[in-house]
Amino acid sequence: MLNGYHSHRQVTQIRAIIWSGDAMATKKRIQNSFIILLAVFYILASQQLFADQDNLTAFINAVLIDGTGAEPVPKMAILVKGIRIFKVGHVSDMTIPLSASRVDLKGATILPGFFNSHVHAAHDERKLKRWSRGGVTTVKEMGNALGSHTGLRDRLLKDNRNARLIIAGPIVSNPGGYGTWHVSSPKDAKEKINDLIDKGVDFIKIGIEDRQGLKSWPLINGKLVNAIVETAHSRGKSVSCHVTRSKHLVLALDGGTNSLEHMVYDELSDSMIERVVQEGVFWVPTLELWKNVSEQYGDWILRNAVTNLDRFVKSGGKVVLGTDFAGFNAEFDPGMPITEILLMKQASMTPMQIIVSATRNAAQLAGVIKDLGTIEPGKIADMIVIRGNPLTNIKILGEVKMVIKSGEIIKNEFLDDL
Ligand SMILES: [Zn+2]
Repeated sequence: MLNGYHSHRQVTQIRAIIWSGDAMATKKRIQNSFIILLAVFYILASQQLFADQDNLTAFINAVLIDGTGAEPVPKMAILVKGIRIFKVGHVSDMTIPLSASRVDLKGATILPGFFNSHVHAAHDERKLKRWSRGGVTTVKEMGNALGSHTGLRDRLLKDNRNARLIIAGPIVSNPGGYGTWHVSSPKDAKEKINDLIDKGVDFIKIGIEDRQGLKSWPLINGKLVNAIVETAHSRGKSVSCHVTRSKHLVLALDGGTNSLEHMVYDELSDSMIERVVQEGVFWVPTLELWKNVSEQYGDWILRNAVTNLDRFVKSGGKVVLGTDFAGFNAEFDPGMPITEILLMKQASMTPMQIIVSATRNAAQLAGVIKDLGTIEPGKIADMIVIRGNPLTNIKILGEVKMVIKSGEIIKNEFLDDL
C-alpha cells in the first residue's frame, strides 16, 4: 500500500474517533484523546523524514533494468529526491511520501541514462541536446585540436537539458605525432600533463598511431606513454589510448592505459585478448567508425573489427560503448547510437551486455561510477524510459520516451503516446 492512501485512511479514522465520543465516559475520552495524539504524532513523525524535501518524485510501475547486469524486475518504484535517487524498491514495499509527485510508468522499462564514451566536436549545445533527448545523458569528448575547452564545458554543463560532457582536451602525442599536445621527454610529459589537468580536463587521451591510409606520423615511444599515464594516474585521472592495430597494443598496455579506443582491425591474437582481459582494461570498439571507414575502404575492416570484438567478449573482456562521432568524414547517429548497438549485437553481444557497456562499464571507465551509470540509491538520477523490452527487441532503445536528468524530466513523450 502506498503511504499516501495509508495516511489518508488514518486521518479518516482519527476524525471518526473525534466525532463519536458523546456517550463515552470522561476517562475513556481522555484515553482516546491520548491515542489520537499518538496517532497524529506518528503521522507527523513518518512525514518528518521528508519535511524539508520539496522536490520528491516517485516513478512507479516500471520494469527496472538497473545497469548492473541484473535481470529486469517488474513493478518497481524509484523515489528521486532532488537530483539523486533516494530509494529503489518494489511498489508494494515502498513508502511513498504524500508530498512526492507520482509518475506512473505503466509497465514501461526504465534504465540508466546511456553514455557515448567516444565522441568528438561535442562542445555544441545543439548536439548535447540531441544526445540527451535520444537517451544519451553523458558523452565523452575524446580530443579536439582546439585545446582544453574547460570554460566552455563548464558553461554547457549549467544547462541540465544538455548531455553531460566529460572531456580529454587535446590528444597527447610525441612531436609530429598523432595528436596536438606534444610531449618531448618524460620530464616534459609530466609538466604538460599536469598543466592539462590544472586546466581542468577530465581525463587524458594518448594517440598511438603511425599510419592511416596515405598519412603517416612518427610513433610515440614507451617512455613517453609511461610518463603520461603515471602523471595522469598520480592526479586521479584515467587514460585512454587510441590504437587501431594489434602491434601497438603493447605500448598502451605496458604503459598502464585504462582503455583501448577503437577495436583493432587486423587479426587479434588469443594471447593479446587474454592479456587485455587479465588486466581488466576496457575496450571501446567504435564499430560505427569502422562501418563508415569500410564503406570507403572495404568491408574487411568492419568484418575484422566485429570478429575481434566477438572473440574479446567471449573471453570475458570488458566493453564500453563509443562510436567516434564526428571522428571521420561521414554521418554518425546524432542521439541514441543505434547503429553501434546493432553492430555490437552482430558481434554476438547480448542486449544486456550492450546496455551494461553503455551504463555501468562506461561510468567505471570515466571514473564517475559513484554518481552515475546505474539506478541505485545515492546515484544522480539520470534515467531513460522506453516502452517494451529491449532484451527481446534491442531496436526500441532508439525510441526513448522519457529522459530524466539530475532528477528533472527533460523530455516526456511518454504520456502523449498512451
Ligand atoms: Zn576518436
